[in-house]
Amino acid sequence: MKNKKRKAEKIIFNSEKDMPITPMSLGSMAFNLTGSWRNIRPLIDLNNCLQCGICWKFCPDAAIVIENEFPVIDYDYCKGCGLCAEECPAKCITMEEEVK
Ligand code: SF4
Ligand code: SF4
Repeated sequence: MKNKKRKAEKIIFNSEKDMPITPMSLGSMAFNLTGSWRNIRPLIDLNNCLQCGICWKFCPDAAIVIENEFPVIDYDYCKGCGLCAEECPAKCITMEEEVK
């Protein structure tokens, strides 16, 4: 019998407005300062930012807020998972080694 493994296709969104509504829990995020877990740090090149909000939507720690239509990272909460950089359609978020 043939192995029928299907390759998952990555879904590309152009804006967080195209994404499905997802529940967001801010309960424990408010008091868990997960920034201390981080060993790599996301840096956003705002000159190339599309203001799409996708990084904000994907961040599992709600560490990104939108201010004046641009994303801003709160490093007290960012755990350095890299999801924002992976999903950014403009590839304007880079992950840099944390200097402690
Ligand atoms: S790396 Fe990006 S997605 Fe991950 S916690 Fe930090 S800001 Fe959020
Ligand atoms: S940093 Fe990337 S994902 Fe975030 S708003 Fe800008 S273009 Fe979109």
